[in-house]
Amino acid sequence: MAGLFDEPTISYVQVAVERAVDRYPNGLTYGVPERLAPIEAGQLVTVPLGRGNTPTEAWVLSTSDNPPTPSDTKETKQIISKNAETVSLPNDLVSLASWISSYYCSAIGPTLSTMLPGPVRKGTGLKTKTLLDVPTSPPLDTKITKKQEHVLACITALPKNERPIGVAHLMKIASLGSRGPIDRLCKHGFLSTHQVTHVEAAWFKRTIDNKEAPTLTDDQQKVFDAISPTLSNGYSCHLLHGVTGSGKTEMYIRLIDHAIKDGGKAIVLVPEISLTPQTAARLMGRFPNKQVAILHSALTKAQRHQQWAMAASGEADIILGARSAVFAPVPIDDLKIIIVDEEHDHSYKQDQTPRYHGRDVAIRRASSAKCPIVLGSATPSMESWWNATRRNISTLHTLPRRAPGLTSPTIEIVNMRIARAAAKGVIPVFSRELEHEIQRSLATGGQILLLLNRRGFAPWIACSSRGCDWMMRCEHCESSMVYHRRKPLEEVGFVRCHHCAKEQRVPKSCPDCSKPVIRLGAGTQKLEAIIRETIPLPDDQIARLDTDTARKSSDLHSTLDRFTRGEIRVLLGTQMIAKGLDVAGVTLVGVIDADTAIDLPDFRASERTYQLVAQVCGRCGRGSGNAKAIVQTYNPEAPAIVLAAQNKYEEFASRELQLRQETGLPPSTRMARFVIRDDTFEVTAGRANALYERLMSIVPPAIQLTAAAPCVLTRIADRYRFDLTASAPTARELQHFLGDARGRQYITNNRDLAIDVDPVSML
Ligand code: ADP
Ligand code: ZN
Ligand code: ZN
Repeated sequence: MAGLFDEPTISYVQVAVERAVDRYPNGLTYGVPERLAPIEAGQLVTVPLGRGNTPTEAWVLSTSDNPPTPSDTKETKQIISKNAETVSLPNDLVSLASWISSYYCSAIGPTLSTMLPGPVRKGTGLKTKTLLDVPTSPPLDTKITKKQEHVLACITALPKNERPIGVAHLMKIASLGSRGPIDRLCKHGFLSTHQVTHVEAAWFKRTIDNKEAPTLTDDQQKVFDAISPTLSNGYSCHLLHGVTGSGKTEMYIRLIDHAIKDGGKAIVLVPEISLTPQTAARLMGRFPNKQVAILHSALTKAQRHQQWAMAASGEADIILGARSAVFAPVPIDDLKIIIVDEEHDHSYKQDQTPRYHGRDVAIRRASSAKCPIVLGSATPSMESWWNATRRNISTLHTLPRRAPGLTSPTIEIVNMRIARAAAKGVIPVFSRELEHEIQRSLATGGQILLLLNRRGFAPWIACSSRGCDWMMRCEHCESSMVYHRRKPLEEVGFVRCHHCAKEQRVPKSCPDCSKPVIRLGAGTQKLEAIIRETIPLPDDQIARLDTDTARKSSDLHSTLDRFTRGEIRVLLGTQMIAKGLDVAGVTLVGVIDADTAIDLPDFRASERTYQLVAQVCGRCGRGSGNAKAIVQTYNPEAPAIVLAAQNKYEEFASRELQLRQETGLPPSTRMARFVIRDDTFEVTAGRANALYERLMSIVPPAIQLTAAAPCVLTRIADRYRFDLTASAPTARELQHFLGDARGRQYITNNRDLAIDVDPVSML
């Protein structure tokens, strides 16, 4: 085909179709007609696709002057148009997308689209404005007033590179009270006008935190002295292991300050939106003369576009955000440091394609930007610990002590088996020890945090008859239905499935034997009800925080603010409250059930339990006075719980790594997980086994393939699930195998198959 408009092709581009199939990892080649030149990598274009030449959006991956093979010049179709509204992605992000696409087995087109926020792509919030300049050939003999002459003199005096300028700007430098003189100059051709579209920069309001920079402790100084010289030394990776409250954030601030002094930029990743307000306030407070862009999912569309544009234009000095902020379009030469706070957090892994890990992509980005990256955590992931202590591909820095003025809480483990034995019947939510500490804390004016990692009122609805084992299950998932109350203190309720969100009414009696049904166990709603009924505090001094109460980020922020100001005395909730909170008044932390993670059939169950207990216990002892944490568990001997209570991370980590090594699990090996999904059990099993056979036929000896088996969650939203895993000694070997399987089209990421490289959840 000679092109839709019979124009000669002047150059070539390789493009990736947006909604695409995985078939052409290097892209499809199209010709560029003269009228569309130049076209650059990172732009969105429309190309004719397939036999019907359906106009289809595609990303430009690369450009070249010559056809791919000289003989098919005639065959090459031409691009139809370029997408004018969309900002293009910078080159380094296009390369990063190629890496993600290859490493995480995701098609390149959709991967690129993930990087560009929807509002940026659609041009949401774009405004047009008029800029003024001196025309190349001004009119010769029209009379102008003194004032107009002055205006012309002002704009002409500007250096060429500062023109064209906006109307308001010109009014200001010419000290005009109205725009009349400018309009008349334009009308008669003394000023030329240029229409440009742009997004207006809109910086978030600052809550300036006037805290002076503290004098660093010896430990902190040592860490700073070790990392800061690397700022001018190309890529390096650092793991900052510091107990909660040891000054990790202080370290980030000092390093950023150093890195951005001469126009450099910093990217700071935090796990979730809930952490952003406090961290943002601190960063902004400590950098009153720098601009901070904030990227997270709760922004409006226009705000997202603005923040993105501010990063792209280089106006923002610091970009703070959750996982996807790793794609902030900071000019690559300006990027001087990347910080990943709470690097162990699982929310850095995206659970839909591309299934990338924000931390690992950040490492990749730092390496191509040739700048240092600092991963910080009180409870580093086994992966990062392994990299720092065994593979020596990152440098370990330690802050073993809390910052001056902070105390270390006493942590007490309470064996709930004893409480259960004593109870004869209904198992109490609170042990006597915790009850006692709550009273003590309230009497001394302290604030209390209570963690229960289970939403709803009661996690199970079951039959009251001993001989009957009926339990209410979701009709669409392999899971139990959770009882929720409509309001905390009212009996009216419903049941909901936490996997597919379907709701049902509570049956009056058991469908199997007609005996009454009972509700078993406790979730955050029940905890709230008990607290409200038993603690003599005004209603508004008690609050619950979980995804049911914090539907909007503003709800979350206002609750956190009220807690920070001391207006809320008792805050209870799910792991949302386990992170980031830095409140001096907290004198008691209670973990209602430390076992919510420990029994999960996932090889990271222990690691997660350690993290949860250590993180939540770190929330107290930030003010003066005694602080205590009580950890209730049915597994009082479990190393994860015992060592977390003793704050012995290193001991826990080396035990855990030893176990992983003995069992051949990550991080001692690298894993890819394949989840096969289909509509019936038999079809799913059949497809899973067929995949296993196919992979077996090409698997190299170094790679371990597990046979296909039903997932722990066998069915979600009427889709059956089977999985199998491939483990390799190194990432390189795993990648080679995946590349081979992908090239043969044995595996492709789609609705029926999820390929998860470096999976963080095995459920
Ligand atoms: P982390 O990020 O490890 O939890 P932070 O940096 O938030 O620790 O520090 C905890 C608290 O201690 C903060 O309020 C911080 O301002 C304060 N702090 C940190 N370093 C010092 C120091 N050297 N002297 C006094 N206070 C400090
Ligand atoms: Zn369900
Ligand atoms: Zn029954």
